[in-house]
Amino acid sequence: MEIKEIGEFGLIDLIKDATIVDESSVVVGIGDDAAVVRATPKMLQLMTTDMLVEGIHFDLSFTSPTQLGYKALAVNLSDIAAMGGVACQAVISIALPKDSKPEFMVELYQGMKKIAQQFKVNIVGGDTVASLGGVIINVAVLGEVLPQYLQRRSTAAIADIVVVTGDLGNAAAGLVCLQAGEKGASFSDILIQDHLLPMPQMEMAGYIAKYASSMNDISDGLASEASEIATASGVGLCIDATKVPLSQALRESSAVFGRNALDFALYGGEDYQLLFTITEQNYKKLCQHTLPNKLTVIGRVTDKEKCVELIQENRQIVNLKPKGYNHFI
Ligand code: ADP
Ligand code: MG
Repeated sequence: MEIKEIGEFGLIDLIKDATIVDESSVVVGIGDDAAVVRATPKMLQLMTTDMLVEGIHFDLSFTSPTQLGYKALAVNLSDIAAMGGVACQAVISIALPKDSKPEFMVELYQGMKKIAQQFKVNIVGGDTVASLGGVIINVAVLGEVLPQYLQRRSTAAIADIVVVTGDLGNAAAGLVCLQAGEKGASFSDILIQDHLLPMPQMEMAGYIAKYASSMNDISDGLASEASEIATASGVGLCIDATKVPLSQALRESSAVFGRNALDFALYGGEDYQLLFTITEQNYKKLCQHTLPNKLTVIGRVTDKEKCVELIQENRQIVNLKPKGYNHFI
């Protein structure tokens, strides 16, 4: 069966079950001209959107519709986490080639609902249209944050330390594995998983937001994200290359591909880990919690305005250019 046989409404009927996870905040979900939701009193509302375009952001030859649905929502949740908030509602707009199969939409929503349920996000509406080119998915998410926990990128302070969650570079190396058809190696499963199914750091963000001075999610590589904090805050960031957390799998794959592991972390992107600045005192407090992911101190905030420096392995200090994912491959 093809989509043109069941039409837009037939398609929506196929996906609208189990889209509401938390009924208390939804007055009207899918089925009217607009969704109607309740904001929690005293919370600030967060809005974010990210669009994924076939051929630019994903390749359906190695991404399943379920993985794509998961990732389209995950990257938006990561932006909410980076503001220190929790995600509440999502609307999904999708453009599909006319000859698409309804199963594609159903599987896409299976992936989306899986992560939506995990993080208690309701899918309250969207739009479905035909595309003359490839698949395009736009997700918009509404979230909330207590005013005192809001994390911006413009509020880093001189002498704060610079910290990241998790390991960096895995997702970019996972893409290289997929493009090279490198699936059987000991390192490829974890890297490919991190590329296709990134875990937004919502839970970590909940702890970090209480203590940090500024925060960003790492969607475009550490160099680019560090530069965004430095520029927005009017400070410098000095990062020690030897401290950047690189997984064993990344090191092994870099050796096989003849690439520099650190470059994946600095310029690779799509890790969706968190980069934040924090006072040493608050960092000690943060570390007293039992956290679901690791933290690594990678540097310090300096008074060198809008400048990101890297202390290389040979201890020589160089300026780090904010080149991101697009310039990488
Ligand atoms: P309208 O013509 O008022 O824009 P639509 O016919 O586009 O309404 O959509 C009907 C309902 O289905 C609306 O509630 C809309 O939010 C929802 N909807 C449409 N496409 C999607 C989608 N891809 N995902 C979730 N909800 C959708
Ligand atoms: Mg519409």
